[in-house]
Amino acid sequence: DAQVLSETYRRLAEALPEGVEVLYSLKANPNISVCGFLGAQGAGAEVSSLTELMTAMRAGVDPADIIFLGPGKSRADLEACVSAGISAVVCESLAELRLLDEVAAARGAAPFPAVLRVNPSFHSKGSGLSMGGKPRQFGVDEKEVRQARPLLDALRHVEVKGFHAYMGTRFLDHRDVVANTESILRMAEDLATDLGVDLSFVDFGGGLGVAYFENESDLDTAELGKGMRGPVGDFRARHPSCRIIMELGRFLAADAGIYVTRAVYVKESMGELFVVADGGTNHHMAAVGIGSFVKRNFPVVHLGSPSAEPAGTYTVTGPLCTPNDTLVKKVGLPEVRPGDLLGIERSGAYGPTASPGLFL
Ligand SMILES: *Cc1c(COP(=O)(O)O)cnc(C)c1O
Repeated sequence: DAQVLSETYRRLAEALPEGVEVLYSLKANPNISVCGFLGAQGAGAEVSSLTELMTAMRAGVDPADIIFLGPGKSRADLEACVSAGISAVVCESLAELRLLDEVAAARGAAPFPAVLRVNPSFHSKGSGLSMGGKPRQFGVDEKEVRQARPLLDALRHVEVKGFHAYMGTRFLDHRDVVANTESILRMAEDLATDLGVDLSFVDFGGGLGVAYFENESDLDTAELGKGMRGPVGDFRARHPSCRIIMELGRFLAADAGIYVTRAVYVKESMGELFVVADGGTNHHMAAVGIGSFVKRNFPVVHLGSPSAEPAGTYTVTGPLCTPNDTLVKKVGLPEVRPGDLLGIERSGAYGPTASPGLFL
């Protein structure tokens, strides 16, 4: 739903303090039209595979607004970044930085821009899935970065322009995001001083969440913007030409898509009603909840029922031969009959491309 996409993007862009740029993380939904539409609204792109890079370029995103992340970039990935002339490669290890220096040598011109992804020494609260502040395959430990000056000075064809940190995903409390932003901006300044980096790029991730489950509520973007104004404003005053970047997938795309599945059979087992639908884990692993400790239901609606009044309590499963293939457990729905369509809402991010058939 393009209208939802554009409203979400605008609501965020208007709330954020001046000077914060938003990149769309294609991982959440690499559909070229979604990327192109957000690009036309003003979003850049954060990509983490060669296919995503090609998608963003074909969608019309300016290479100067594309960054490439990922812990396992191949030489071919780095070559593509250099030849496309993207904004920066975000290096996730010092070995990758050396490889990029080698690859960029072939190109000859001005040093190629790199950003170091840092695994910070500090933790953060409030994330559904943390990606930093603990042992992780992502980025370079802050301690190791602090000792990397000899390597940075020895680079011939690459220049480290700044730092990146991504603390985790599914943040719903704006105070946690503000606290992360403050810590990351401070860390970037510190590291730049220690390493002699002329700071012109900071990416503080994002990982803003959307409410999926009972007892959750959506992030307050207005409050988020207010909270960020101080730290971002102070930082900009000290580094007026530094790009300040936030990269987001779920927050931008989730609400703009509904996963539609069709009831194949409706049956009763030992007093409980089951809808067996034509898709489940294979299309939408997140809604099924594979990998989470407790099964919780995404919002589900009966599409096309004249009434919204529940007529029964249903468990909706997919077609696969495992009891885990359960989309929603015991929800009240209007009467469901074979052939009816059910919609799992907030499925515009991490749907089929984050499910087993196409995983990321
Ligand atoms: C997955 C990922 C994102 C996007 O995360 P969302 O929670 O969808 O906003 C951004 N940056 C990095 C490094 C990621 O791995």
